[in-house]
Amino acid sequence: MKVRSNLFGMERPALRVLVEEMGEPAYRGDQLFAWLYKKKERRLSAMTNMSRAFRERLALAHEIRWPGVSERRRSTDGTVKYLFRLDDGASVESVFIPEERRRTICISTQAGCPLKCAFCLTGIAGYKRNLRPWEILGQVSAVMAEAPAARFGWNVVVMGMGEPLLNYDATVSALRILMDPEGFAVASKKLTLSTVGILPALEKLMKEPVRPNLAISLHASNAALRRSLMPIEEKYSIDEVMAAARRYPIPHGGRVTYEYVLLRGVNDTPEHARELARWLRGSRSKVNLIPLNPAPEIPFEAPTATAVDAFVGHLSDAHVAVSVRRPRGQDILAACGQLHLKGAPQPEAAPN
Ligand code: SAH
Repeated sequence: MKVRSNLFGMERPALRVLVEEMGEPAYRGDQLFAWLYKKKERRLSAMTNMSRAFRERLALAHEIRWPGVSERRRSTDGTVKYLFRLDDGASVESVFIPEERRRTICISTQAGCPLKCAFCLTGIAGYKRNLRPWEILGQVSAVMAEAPAARFGWNVVVMGMGEPLLNYDATVSALRILMDPEGFAVASKKLTLSTVGILPALEKLMKEPVRPNLAISLHASNAALRRSLMPIEEKYSIDEVMAAARRYPIPHGGRVTYEYVLLRGVNDTPEHARELARWLRGSRSKVNLIPLNPAPEIPFEAPTATAVDAFVGHLSDAHVAVSVRRPRGQDILAACGQLHLKGAPQPEAAPN
């Protein structure tokens, strides 16, 4: 049987080259781009502004494929967790989060994660591989296709499984297609990439012509504490990550978000709040506090409500902008750090 190559996931320049190699004018590549990503059409036969002969020739060697949804879990709060089964048996999860005035898709960039942050189930479960652009982008199209109609647009957060900056090329390629006005047309200010701060990749991202918002997973107020929670601190230290994040050119004069998961008795005291505030003084930033989403496998406890309030108070007193993330989809293990495939095949060893 002939293996057809997938057109979905290809960027505009690659599509132009492909059609030109078939003897067609380059603008056919742009037409194809709009069908694939703006109209999200999966049937070549429906692309009627291109000749039937050309579509038939395309279909001989190419196809249009999104990753298949193998399972959906619906939370009582409306959140839906999607499980995608990929061709090689790897699987990833995405989350659809409806809110009153916006709706958000949280996507994954790796099957599993090699970082092994102590409080994150994805890391505890291990790492399998990087996703390809079509597998990243396909999560968005599949979730969008099933979502109920709404008058407001989409937010996309790259906060699912995996570390996006360890899969730089595929992630940024998918983001370009997401942000392209003739593609998914998600505004750059509605797109957020979350990272622990893989420095060389972060430097590269700063130089991209179109960039998403940046969220940095900080989770600790000093190097020793961060090292005890996040092994990556050995390689990219908190002071270097903070220095790089301060230079990140945010679209539309926004702010860098610092994510800080609150762990009871570990990083949630007033001293930690004051230490955190010192890092952020004078920078265009905001802190997003995430009370730990607990799970039996996670060796930490959620903070008390009093500790969360006090932490917020100390940051506000220091004039640091702060919000607390409301957990969504906890009953279906769809909240931050809970993406982890129960009953999935054992992941392979992490590469080096
Ligand atoms: N690797 C990237 C993308 C993952 S985003 C990053 O680390 O930023 C997922 C966010 O949820 C990260 O800030 C992560 O640290 C946080 N998180 C992980 N486990 C969590 C848990 N159990 N409870 C709350 N937040 C968690």
